Formats: sequence, C-alpha cells, structure tokens
Amino acid sequence: MNMNHAEVAVVGGGIVGLAHALAAAKRGRKVILFERDEYAVGASIRNFGLVWPVGQPDGLYERALASRRIWLDLAERSGLWARQSGSLHVAYAEDEVAVLDEFLATTPAASEQGCRMLTPEEVGKESSVVRTDGLLAAMWSPTELNVDPRQAIPMVAEILARDFGVEMRFGHAVRSINLPTIETDRESWQVDEVYVCSGNEFQALYPEVFASSGIRRCKLQMLRTAPQRGGWELGPALCAGLTLLHYGSFKHCTSLAALRERVEAERPFFVEHGIHVLVSQTRYGEVTIGDSHAYGMTHDPFEREDVNAAILEYFATFAELPTPRIDERWHGFYPSLPDGRPDLIARPEPGVTVVNGLGGAGMTLSFGLAEEVLG
Ligand SMILES: Cc1cc2nc3c(=O)[nH]c(=O)nc-3n(C[C@H](O)[C@H](O)[C@H](O)COP(=O)(O)OP(=O)(O)OC[C@H]3O[C@@H](n4cnc5c(N)ncnc54)[C@H](O)[C@@H]3O)c2cc1C
Repeated sequence: MNMNHAEVAVVGGGIVGLAHALAAAKRGRKVILFERDEYAVGASIRNFGLVWPVGQPDGLYERALASRRIWLDLAERSGLWARQSGSLHVAYAEDEVAVLDEFLATTPAASEQGCRMLTPEEVGKESSVVRTDGLLAAMWSPTELNVDPRQAIPMVAEILARDFGVEMRFGHAVRSINLPTIETDRESWQVDEVYVCSGNEFQALYPEVFASSGIRRCKLQMLRTAPQRGGWELGPALCAGLTLLHYGSFKHCTSLAALRERVEAERPFFVEHGIHVLVSQTRYGEVTIGDSHAYGMTHDPFEREDVNAAILEYFATFAELPTPRIDERWHGFYPSLPDGRPDLIARPEPGVTVVNGLGGAGMTLSFGLAEEVLG
C-alpha cells in the first residue's frame, strides 16, 4: 500500500463532507476526501436542492444564511446553477394565515430579511402556477435558494479539487481510523485530523457514538416532472399549509395547535405518512415535488403509490404546471435525531470529529455548520 500524508481527512462526499473539506481547505489545511462510491449517490443528490433558511428555528437561521452565502460564492466561481428563488408559503385556510401572521409577528429576524404577507393579487404576480381561487394570502420569503443537487454535489467536489487543492478519492471506502493512520480499501494515509461525515452509513465507523443518540433513518418519496417547455421558470419555491407543521421555525406559534387539529381530522393519511409538499426546479426545467417521511432504523426499498398519489393530490390543491407529466420517482434516506436536535457532533477520540444527523436540512445548514465546527 502507498503511504500518503494530509493534515485533514474527510470521510464522505455528501454535502456534509464537502462542507467540512471546504472549511478546512479555506483555513489553509491540506485536505484529502474519501468517498466510498464512484460518485456520491446518498441523500445529497436525492433532495430538492432547496437552501431553506425560512424553515430554520431561532439560532439556526443565521447558520442557514451563512450557508446560503457560501453556496452563492461557489456559484459565482463556477457554472453551478443556483437560483435566488425565494419562497411562497401559500394559505387557503384561516388557521394557516394565523400561523403565518404569528410567525411574522414573533420572528423579527425573518421580517428583517424581508419576509412578509402577500395578497392573492400579489401572489399572482410572483408565481404563474399558484392557484389563486380560494387563496387567502401567502408569506413571501426572499432567502430561499434553489440549486440542482445532481449538478451541485459533483460540481462542489470539482471546485474543491480545482480551487482549493483538496485531493478527492472516489471509490475509496474508509475501513479503519487509528490516528495518525486512516485506511481505505486501496490506500493508507497519515493524517492529523479526521471528520467522519458518513451519512446513512453510521453503523460502520464509531457506531457507539450513534447507538446512544436515538438516531434513526427517515425515508422520503419524491417525484419529478418532465422538463417544462420553453425556458419556463417556476419562480419562487412553493409550499402550503402542511409545511407549517413540518419545520422548526413555526413550532413556537401557539396558533399551530388549531391547524394541527384540523389536519389530523381532515387528512389522517397525510399525517400518518408525514406528507407535506415542497416544490423546486432543476437547471433543465424539471419540477421536483415531494415528499413523505417514515422513520425507522431499517426501511424496505419499496415505494408506495398511494403516498405518491397523495403528494400529487395535495400539490394540485395549490398549484398547476404547464407540463404536469411525472417522469421520475425515487426515494431517499437521511439520518434523523429525535427531539428536533439539529445535528450530532461528537469527538470519540482525539483528532476525530463525527458530524451527522442534519436530518432534512443538510443542503441548508452544512456549509454554515462546518464553519462553526472548524472554528
Ligand atoms: C428526499 C430528500 C429531500 C431532501 N431535501 C432537502 C432540501 O431540499 N434541503 C435541505 O437542506 N436538505 C434536504 N434534505 C436533507 C439533505 O439531503 C441531507 O441532510 C444531506 O444530504 C445529508 O448529507 P450527508 O453528507 O450527511 O449524507 P450523504 O449525502 O448520504 O453522504 C454521505 C456519504 O458518505 C459516504 N460514506 C459513508 N461511509 C463511508 C466510508 N466508510 N468511506 C467513504 N465514504 C463513506 C457515502 O457513500 C455517502 O456518499 C433532503 C433529503 C432527502 C433524502
């Protein structure tokens, strides 16, 4: 085996690993990144590509805005597609409007960024797809960013190698860490420090860190349309009332209880399968629609068509696309911590940092988190 040296090793080529490699390289460190697969195919390429500060509770909002700035910086250096789309939370029921009003009244940081309520007429000007019949209002947020994960993840890896001198090793599974030695199935390296960002593979390296954390995997179902024709643009990323029950930023709103009670009575299937609907776009004009949430340590590999149908049914209550045909369906998994904890950071031995458990917000939070972890 060859013997090589770097100051920092990163395990995992998903967004969490890429973010830590970038933060270390920006600090002048010599970095090597190992990704088990020939290219990353985990959670980071299966998502909406939404950087979604508006969903982050107090304390994480700033971290999300910091990530957003880093995404924009990377986009400026390259052909990375990043649209400053903003977002609309559309409301068709009084209890949804009440939550949005309360959120704005109690979240000055969001208002300072420009979040505000729009009338149905104003919504019609912002979005050509939102149904305005029955629409009561919507909350506009300017901070959301839409990237295309299938382009962004490989492209960030390329930028790391090209602009920051990070050595990339795809197809190298890290088998053991015994500092200063780290061994893959193909090479042995001497390193000072390691960041273990192994995503769903958390039972392989330092399993004891995870065993006591309550972490489990969340399975999500996603759909994507054919490309919309003629350069058609989605405009703001979209979501509706169910999303208010999903994100931590709304948890403190006392008006949420009434909305939850109604949804539980009217849409028990949606509650059972954790369905809420987000809508984003790709660089080729396809529209991504999802998702559902099922929690467990082990999941079967099968997709439920009744869940997909429910996602599309809810989507149709608030939006209509020029080309609605669905061309792709897939599922993804992410490790998720109980009690709304936003991440798991552990130092199981000197020089080793485990970073995992970012749940449904890895695209939103990883770059900002890595800046904090590297200090
Ligand atoms: C369907 C879906 C939709 C989502 N939507 C959004 C969204 O719009 N916005 C948002 O902010 N977040 C979203 N998320 C969450 C986000 O995708 C995740 O938080 C994030 O991708 C997790 O990144 P990761 O690097 O931890 O994991 P991963 O992307 O899974 O990467 C981990 C990598 O580590 C590698 N690895 C593991 N063990 C080893 C080893 N021993 N040696 C070498 N390599 C190893 C794996 O091969 C893998 O590539 C979504 C997630 C899903 C599944």
